[in-house]
Amino acid sequence: MTLTIPMFQPDEAFAYQLDAQDDLASFRTQFVVDDPNLIYLLGNSLGRLPHAAASRLQTFVNEEWGKRLIRGWNEGWFSQPNELGAKIAHLIGAHPDEVIIADSTSVNLFKLALAAVRGQHGRTTILTDNLNFPSDLYILSGVAQLAGPEYHLQLITSPDEIYGPVAALQEALNERTALLSLSATVFKSSYSYDMAALTAKAHEYGALVLWDLSHATGAIPLNLAAAEVDLAVGCTYKYLCGGPGSPAFLYVRRALQEKLQNPISGWIGQNNPFALGLAYEPAPGIQQFLTGTPSMLSLVALEAGVDLLLQAGMERVRAKSVRQTEYIIYLWEQWLEPLGFCLKSPREARWRGSHVALGHPEGLRISRALKESLNVLPDFRKPDNLRFAAAPLFNSYHDIYQAVIRLRRVMDEQLYTHYPTEAPVVT
Ligand SMILES: *Cc1c(COP(=O)(O)O)cnc(C)c1O
Repeated sequence: MTLTIPMFQPDEAFAYQLDAQDDLASFRTQFVVDDPNLIYLLGNSLGRLPHAAASRLQTFVNEEWGKRLIRGWNEGWFSQPNELGAKIAHLIGAHPDEVIIADSTSVNLFKLALAAVRGQHGRTTILTDNLNFPSDLYILSGVAQLAGPEYHLQLITSPDEIYGPVAALQEALNERTALLSLSATVFKSSYSYDMAALTAKAHEYGALVLWDLSHATGAIPLNLAAAEVDLAVGCTYKYLCGGPGSPAFLYVRRALQEKLQNPISGWIGQNNPFALGLAYEPAPGIQQFLTGTPSMLSLVALEAGVDLLLQAGMERVRAKSVRQTEYIIYLWEQWLEPLGFCLKSPREARWRGSHVALGHPEGLRISRALKESLNVLPDFRKPDNLRFAAAPLFNSYHDIYQAVIRLRRVMDEQLYTHYPTEAPVVT
C-alpha cells in the first residue's frame, strides 16, 4: 500500500476536521465510553470494552452456563478455540486451520519454541534481540536451558534501541541456528520488522522462525501465508479488545503441525480426550497444541473485538493508524520537541506499528501527572518512554490533540514536580 503523509495543522478545529473525514469514526460507538473526558491511548495494552462483548458475556453466563451447564460443551463450546482461531487467522493472513486460541502468550511461546528446538536436530542456538518483550526473553532462555547444556540464547542488541538490528541478526544466522524468535512489532519503540524478508533469510540457513504478534495483531495487516511464517503467537487483550487476561492465540504452519510436538501434552490436545486412554497420542492438526480445558468466559468475550476489526478491514485500520501516528509525530514536532521530548519510534510509517514512544528524562513523573491530574492514560516504559497508542477503532484525532494539549500543560505548569520519582508497581 502507498502511505501518503497528510498535511496537518496545529489547532483544535483541524482535529475535528480529521474526525469528520474519518470513515472509521462510527466504530467508536461500538465501545463503552464511560467518561468522555478521559483520553485513553492504551489500546496497545488493554483495548476498550466492546458493547457486544458485555452482552455476549451476560448471555453466556445466564443462558449457557446457567441453563445448559455441562451440555454446553457439546452445544458449541468445545469448538470455540478453533472457530475464534479461524477468525483471527483471517486478520493475520493465515489459513483457518492454522490458528487456535489457548493459554497465555507466554505459555504458547514456550510450547512452540520448545517444540521447534526439539524438531531441529543438531542446531543449538536460539536467536533473538534486546527489543523483544522481557517475558519472551525469559521464556526463550528457559527453553534453551530445558533443551540441554549445549543450547543457548543469543541476544542481538539494537544500538539505538529503536530500530531492529536487522543486519546483525542476518549475520548471526548460521547452520547452528535452531530458531529465530522476535516481536513483529516491538513493545517499546513500535519498530516493525519486515517479517517476510527476515523469515526468508532464516529459512536460507534452515532455521525456523517464531514471531510474537502481540503488538501487531489488529494494528498492522499481516500475511503469514505469503511470508511463509513457521510459527507465531499473539495476545488478544491489546488491539483485539478481548478483555483483561483474555486467552492468547498460536499459529503453526500446516506443514509443521504433524512434525512438531507440543511439550505440554495435556488431555485436550490428545487425539480422543474423552476415551481417557492411558497413553498420550497427539490430536491431528492444530488441535494438539491445546493443553487443558478452554477458558470459556474469556473466550466468549473475545469474539466481539475480532468481529469489529474484520468489519472495519485491516487495510482501513492501518491507513487510519498511520495517519494518527503521523499526527502524534507532527504535534510532537510542533510543541513537544522544544520542551525536551525526543522521538523514540521510527520516523517513517513503514517501520512503525500503531503506537509512538516519546522520551523525556522526567517521563515517569510526567506520565503520573497525566494520569492522576489530567485524565489522560498513556503508559510509561523504563527508562524514559511514554507510549501513546492509536487504536483506530475507538481513538479519535481529537483524543490525540487533547492528549498533547494536556501534556503541554503538565510541562508549562510543571505539574509533574508534585509527584515522587519512584515507580508504582504497574506503570
Ligand atoms: C503483551 C505481550 C505479551 C503478553 O504475554 P502474556 O503471557 O499474555 O502475559 C507477550 N509478548 C509480547 C510481545 C507482548 O507484547
